[in-house]
Amino acid sequence: MPVYEYACQDCKKRFEIRASLQEREKTKVQCPHCQSEKVERVFSAFYAKTSRKS
Ligand SMILES: [Zn+2]
Repeated sequence: MPVYEYACQDCKKRFEIRASLQEREKTKVQCPHCQSEKVERVFSAFYAKTSRKS
């Protein structure tokens, strides 16, 4: 199952959501720390680190 990383705009904490794409679109993503819905998707630097230089 893919993991989606989010950053809360209210408390500035980051969290991860594990859900299928269908589940993710059905469900509102809420911050687990402050229950805010003002969350923004984060694209982890993990992918940039592992990408090769050509
Ligand atoms: Zn929050």
